[in-house]
Amino acid sequence: MTFDLSCAGARIKALRLARSLTEEDLAKKLGIPHCDIVAMEDGAGMPTLEQALALASALDTTVDELFRKQDDATVPQKQPGMESLTELYKIGSGPSSSHTMGPEKACNLFRNQTPEANRYEVILYGSLAKTGKGHCTDQVIEKTLSPLPCKIIFDTATENLPHPNTMDLMAYNNETLLKKARVFSVGGGAIRFEGEAEGEQKHIYALDTFNDIARYCKKEGLRLWEYVYNTEGSGFRDYLSTVWRAMRQAVAAGLEEEGILPGGLNVHKKARHLFNLQHVDETAETKANRLIAAYAFAVGEQNACGCRIVTAPTCGAAGVLPEVLYYQQKKNGYTDDEICRALATGGLIGNLIKTNASISGAECGCQAEVGSACAMAAAALAELFDLSIDKIEYSAEIAIEHHLGLTCDPICGLVQIPCIERNAVAAMRAINAVNLSSFLSDTRKISLDKVILTMRDTGRDLSHRYRETSEGGLAKLSIYE
Ligand code: SF4
Repeated sequence: MTFDLSCAGARIKALRLARSLTEEDLAKKLGIPHCDIVAMEDGAGMPTLEQALALASALDTTVDELFRKQDDATVPQKQPGMESLTELYKIGSGPSSSHTMGPEKACNLFRNQTPEANRYEVILYGSLAKTGKGHCTDQVIEKTLSPLPCKIIFDTATENLPHPNTMDLMAYNNETLLKKARVFSVGGGAIRFEGEAEGEQKHIYALDTFNDIARYCKKEGLRLWEYVYNTEGSGFRDYLSTVWRAMRQAVAAGLEEEGILPGGLNVHKKARHLFNLQHVDETAETKANRLIAAYAFAVGEQNACGCRIVTAPTCGAAGVLPEVLYYQQKKNGYTDDEICRALATGGLIGNLIKTNASISGAECGCQAEVGSACAMAAAALAELFDLSIDKIEYSAEIAIEHHLGLTCDPICGLVQIPCIERNAVAAMRAINAVNLSSFLSDTRKISLDKVILTMRDTGRDLSHRYRETSEGGLAKLSIYE
């Protein structure tokens, strides 16, 4: 028997998922910290002999089987490279990419697969069950499957889910079950059907670390946006143009509106008010802060109303990137071409985070949503300012580093408090990050790639209460007192 330690991590993960065990469950069975399981599955740490025996027993296999040299294709491996940015920037309806866009896509596909159905049943689990009402998941499912009736069950009790956003779809013809499918809403509006391996997506980028991309661009004399345009091919500039138009429209529409946001929290729309206010002693800085916040509130409020926005990288964090770019275009007159190049570079950073960590609040908390958006905005702004690749990296790294550990705890599961205000704060942080990096990049010690992996590990260590379940943090506050 030849032992192959490099394959063991993927095999441990595959067997754990096949047995519907979470990382926490497996850690408990072995009596070791949860982070040790994460390290083993990532290939960053190997079990001791004693742990290997316990692992084999917990996973109902043998040590030989667990560590055998890989000779088949049954173990899902992380596919190298990255998907197109068209899978990151998506134009759609809010308020949540994982809770509305993902389920909408799943229901559309399932409905097309079941033309004989005359009724549906959908069971929502995990975060989809716990914050689905606030995020309007039930409404979007009913609307997508209509006119056929659909019974929706919120199962908040089942644990040990293979993914925090899990849903079961059942198609019936009267009492006969025609088809059943389990779907995971994996963030940013993307979905995966059970049985479909992770990474079956089309990866058009060969490289998937900032380090490799930067080295390649420097060698070829390319800017990051040129690398993106070259990889995505013709038509991508037009796609970004459409994205930018939708972002601008969301800001403009949000600035026009007044009233109360839906959902029952009685939150007032504030974008228009902020835009029209004037500070008693308004300096150029206070004016800039006020306008940027107004743009952020505009997009956040549009999202909370279920209006059209662009995931950047998600619905909840959709305000950060547009507000920074919108402000720059208004103030300094950057052309749409220049803005599209900035969107390409910002998108590249979002794609790296999506590929190597997560952009899902249910998986890794708000650091994965607003933290990622802040890094994208910082990189985009640094691109707009024509900073070097090293400074673009440093801008994004500062931006995400200071969101590490940020929890997802929306009150009543609505993407309103703290989400909307948080977008405004993150935009200011993105601007600060670019300012800092333009002075300090020669002295830094930590790479963007390392911070992205740290964000992933931090997210996995967060209690589920802080990962879009509305069971902890701010979500526990009573706002009616
Ligand atoms: S707290 Fe952050 S991650 Fe959670 S719903 Fe709000 S914006 Fe999304």
